[in-house]
Amino acid sequence: MPDFDLIIRGGTVVTAADTFRADVGIRGGKVAVLADTLSDGPVLDAGGLLVLPGGVDSHCHIEQLRAGGGADEESFVTGSTSCLAGGTTSVITFSAQHKGHPIRDTLPEYRRRAAQAMVDYSFHQIITDPTDEVVRNEIPEIVASGIRSLKVFLTYEPSHLDDRQFLRVLAAARRTGALVTVHCENYDAIGWRTEALMEAGRTAPKYHAWSRPPVIEREATYRAIALAELVDQPIQVFHVSCSEVAAEIARAQARGLKVWAETCPQYFVLEAADMDRPGFEGAKFICSPSPRDSASRAALWGDIHRGTIDIVSSDHSGSSYEGEGKGKRARGGNAPFPMIPNGVPGLGSRLPIMFSEGVAQGRIDVNTFVRLVASNPAKLFGLYPQKGTIAPGSDADIVLWDPTRQVTVTNALLQHVIDYTPYEGMQVTGWPVATVKGGRVAMRDGKVQAEPGTGKFLARAPYDLIKRRGVLPDGFDAAQFA
Ligand code: MN
Ligand code: MN
Repeated sequence: MPDFDLIIRGGTVVTAADTFRADVGIRGGKVAVLADTLSDGPVLDAGGLLVLPGGVDSHCHIEQLRAGGGADEESFVTGSTSCLAGGTTSVITFSAQHKGHPIRDTLPEYRRRAAQAMVDYSFHQIITDPTDEVVRNEIPEIVASGIRSLKVFLTYEPSHLDDRQFLRVLAAARRTGALVTVHCENYDAIGWRTEALMEAGRTAPKYHAWSRPPVIEREATYRAIALAELVDQPIQVFHVSCSEVAAEIARAQARGLKVWAETCPQYFVLEAADMDRPGFEGAKFICSPSPRDSASRAALWGDIHRGTIDIVSSDHSGSSYEGEGKGKRARGGNAPFPMIPNGVPGLGSRLPIMFSEGVAQGRIDVNTFVRLVASNPAKLFGLYPQKGTIAPGSDADIVLWDPTRQVTVTNALLQHVIDYTPYEGMQVTGWPVATVKGGRVAMRDGKVQAEPGTGKFLARAPYDLIKRRGVLPDGFDAAQFA
């Protein structure tokens, strides 16, 4: 029997900390050895290529169930295909509680569907209805089963929580040792602005941005931080769209609060002006928070440099553009913006866009790139060092990356089920040429060759990073009582 199941030979290994020449020897699905030269096993040639940890996408919506029946268009099979094509090997998707129903009505169905995945996966449990039963019994059960993060919305009908409900979820997370992730926008302010825009006849896609300017995101971010501080509960702020919002997070971090932040490729590349493209094209770019302007896009890199934002996820939440009774045009090509489904696809484009805009354009080094798209998401969500690095004992999830290859992005290259990409025609430098998942070659030259069901559920155990700080007003731990 050969020493290794696979040897990745001749490449340059990149982790969050280091860049060095090494062969990678893989055995039993794990990295066994890093050494100058390895032999005795099948070889995958990485000459001239970067050898990176597989991407970890800690915020993406795949096959999410709709309250009214049915699920997202992107299935775990098509979603995994797009991930592997784009160099991502692990995802954290969502299990959504339907308002008025217990969580046990839906979670088993997510587990059943995700069993088809070809990338490893976990879930954030969305809480839309924090009843006594949910906060006292269901959340502890779910967290104990390895789903160690909860997700709440401060906007959207019918998902949004009011402040009292949000506090109950923060308290439940504190009692059980889970992280809380938050969509920060002000529900009432958006509703008020939207009503006024409709009244004024301003209904085109571009007015989506007008319904939720940055101050609406900044206010909710500040409020989420303050309430989390009151409970002494760590949080992650999802999809920070601009520096004006990041400034609130930086202020909290400087005071020692456990507040982390992610952003997404769309906030570096798309603008509100894209929603003003001719006809109904603008609908393709509607996502929340809204893309901002070109000055915001440029300034957001500063928040990466300062370390305020340390994760880039996709927030893949695709609705196709065309299609009978579904997607962006489901209510016709003149639908007012509040009726157009939110979200842009991004599973497969996340790494290429961040590498091109970041590393190839000279804004960040390749170690920072690895940190943003793989190491930090793995660390913050309790998957490190199993995921997010290349080291002896880590899962052999590895992407071979050509840093010089020039590619014109097309929807077909991304291999998701969604019928468009907001990045169609974009020129990028750097592209994944092979993806190894669990020690097996799962994608080569764009051909995905993994089998449905090869992805594993990642049960997440307690981890130190999200431990409470132990700082409470008056020292009174209200979370023990309410
Ligand atoms: Mn969101
Ligand atoms: Mn989302």
